[in-house]
Amino acid sequence: MFPKFDKIGMPLLGVAAGVLFVLEAKYKLRRRVRSKPKRLLENASVAAAALPALRLVLIPGMYAAARWANNRQFGLLPWLKLPKAAHYTLGFLLLDYGNYFWHMLMHRSHLLWRFHNVHHSDLDLDLSSAWRFHVGENFASVPYRGGVIALLGVPAPLVLFYEVIFEGCTAFHHSNLRLPYKLEKQLCRVMVTPRMHGIHHSIVRQETDSNYAVIFSWWDRLHQTLRLNVPQDAVTIGVPAYRDPAEQSPVHLFRMPFKKQRPWKLPDGTVPQRAKLPEPTQLLP
Ligand SMILES: [Zn+2]
Repeated sequence: MFPKFDKIGMPLLGVAAGVLFVLEAKYKLRRRVRSKPKRLLENASVAAAALPALRLVLIPGMYAAARWANNRQFGLLPWLKLPKAAHYTLGFLLLDYGNYFWHMLMHRSHLLWRFHNVHHSDLDLDLSSAWRFHVGENFASVPYRGGVIALLGVPAPLVLFYEVIFEGCTAFHHSNLRLPYKLEKQLCRVMVTPRMHGIHHSIVRQETDSNYAVIFSWWDRLHQTLRLNVPQDAVTIGVPAYRDPAEQSPVHLFRMPFKKQRPWKLPDGTVPQRAKLPEPTQLLP
């Protein structure tokens, strides 16, 4: 149905993932707390449901929404009547801005958090976390992402192009790759980087509830949800009430959204806190 996406986009993503997999093993950013093969197996089994849902439901849903709007010249972009390059550039930027809000909504809505919690409850963060999403989260994003696409009137081919970049960036910022600090300091002015997203996976609530952006880090800067001031070796990855490795089995993870949610506390009842840190927009190593 999407020959260019399947024949060019997917193999490119496969190569990018392969390169990241090798690099993150060689240049580690954070110390692991669990066995890598065990986690790979767990995360692969979560992805085994999420990835078909992405390719067979979410992507066709978003594409259909774009086609519906394009056929009617519906949405903000056709209304603006911009030159083609500006039309496509603005479409790309607004898609990313829409996903910033979707990610924030998943943290703010109790219902959506039940599903997004499966992604955050990983006790380590690496490339495999990039596809550890509950299948319910992918289904839930169809009406939101499709709706945004229709309202914006994004060209249908741009939806697929954006998705390839979106998936590539998701793989990159979840990876456990230690980039040279000076390089990452420059890079995170524009895009989301592994250190920036590592803070988003911290067990400290205020840190998890920041850095929502997917491709461009500007959206977090714009809405003052940017937090770069935590050194990576001070970050504990996960969700405080979900730290039992026995609950990381595929069956437990699948059932997690449908069970009573636990408060944001460690098993001993304490709430993870952080002492005052410097200016939030200053990236620490
Ligand atoms: Zn999140």
